[in-house]
Amino acid sequence: MHAPQSDVGESAWEDGGMWPVWPPADESIVRALTEVVASRRWAISGAYTGSESFERRFGQAFADYHGVRHAVPTCNGSAALTIALQAVGVGPGDEVLVPGMTWVACAAAVLRCGARPVPVDVCPDTLCMSPDAAAAAMTLATSAVVLVHAYCSVADVEAFVRLAETTGVPLIEDCSQAHGAEWRERRVGTFGSVGIFSLQQTKVLTAGEGGVAITEDPALADRMEQLRADGRRWSRTAPRPGALQLEEVGDVVGTNYCLSEFGAAVALNQLSALDSHNATRAARAKVLDDVLAGVPGVVLTRTSTGTTSRSFYRYVFRLSPDVWPEPDVDALVHDLQRHVNLPVQRLDAPFTQNRLLRNAPSRRATVRHRGRPLPVADAAYATGVAVPHWALLADESQVAVLGQQVGASLAGAGRMRPDVPS
Ligand SMILES: *Cc1c(COP(=O)(O)O)cnc(C)c1O
Repeated sequence: MHAPQSDVGESAWEDGGMWPVWPPADESIVRALTEVVASRRWAISGAYTGSESFERRFGQAFADYHGVRHAVPTCNGSAALTIALQAVGVGPGDEVLVPGMTWVACAAAVLRCGARPVPVDVCPDTLCMSPDAAAAAMTLATSAVVLVHAYCSVADVEAFVRLAETTGVPLIEDCSQAHGAEWRERRVGTFGSVGIFSLQQTKVLTAGEGGVAITEDPALADRMEQLRADGRRWSRTAPRPGALQLEEVGDVVGTNYCLSEFGAAVALNQLSALDSHNATRAARAKVLDDVLAGVPGVVLTRTSTGTTSRSFYRYVFRLSPDVWPEPDVDALVHDLQRHVNLPVQRLDAPFTQNRLLRNAPSRRATVRHRGRPLPVADAAYATGVAVPHWALLADESQVAVLGQQVGASLAGAGRMRPDVPS
């Protein structure tokens, strides 16, 4: 079988087929990295060499891609979220709303600011934060809302923009699982005060490690620039070869969260393939939807009304409790992993059950539940399965076989067999 893009390699699976491997790599990436090596400028804190840094080229390209004025690249997505939170003023004693189920970094970044993450339950359709639950969780201490577009959905953008407008609490969109997704034909990350993205190895746009924060607001951009470069920002005077380009300002202290020139060169290289990869994944997701719609008790993940383009970091489906009263999702995941040779996974554990945060070293560094249960997140975790996005870069017939294997694994898992006839 052939992968749709020539730059995507392949890995074998049990049935003799090949899965595209991730991340993709071709000669152009090697050329870009060689250029960085030879330039002797490996960091933005290095001297100007006569040509624009890759970091600024990537930042400009990423801002243009989103139609916004500013992009601040960082060493990873966690750093991008941290500077976004700090730039909007989150600090000790504050509370920040985060989805009740998402990657642990969303809560950890809040803790790093000295603030408390407050997990909020998700919507049963989209598995993104519920706007009603968010409104109910707000207090006078709430100083930001971190909305994550996740599990192949775009969150309810309209409701969260309205919530930010009526409360004055800044909205930060975490698009680490949704690069290129659109709501009413506008890309996610452009609706809140700041949009942040991870460029980690598994993400649909990757530099290995990396991150980026975008904003339309020049004051926020200036603060974020300084926050990620020890209080330095790009000098506004024309660069001279041999001279440093970062100038010390020191309006804010910050730390070193800079993206290396190697990472920036890789990110810039990969950005050019994002739209075509997203289009292929969306088309293959439809194939998988069609096959799984025929498997009893499989619930597909819906996206919010207004979504005009989905970005599939993970293809997520759940088991209906009506058909599978006591699903053994671990058994299903392991069976699928064995048969299709893909790192199929469960969803992120809700923050009520998250091991990293439960074992946090101090009482301060814990997630506050305010006694609020997360019933929707708990149910989604108990029934959800996530397929990695590179499976959706395979050809249609192979994706159909994957869907059929879900049906076979479900039927074959004895203890999961439903009492109800299908
Ligand atoms: C991956 C991810 C992050 C963290 O990004 P890193 O680059 O690993 O620091 C944050 N939020 C979400 C939703 C993610 O998926």
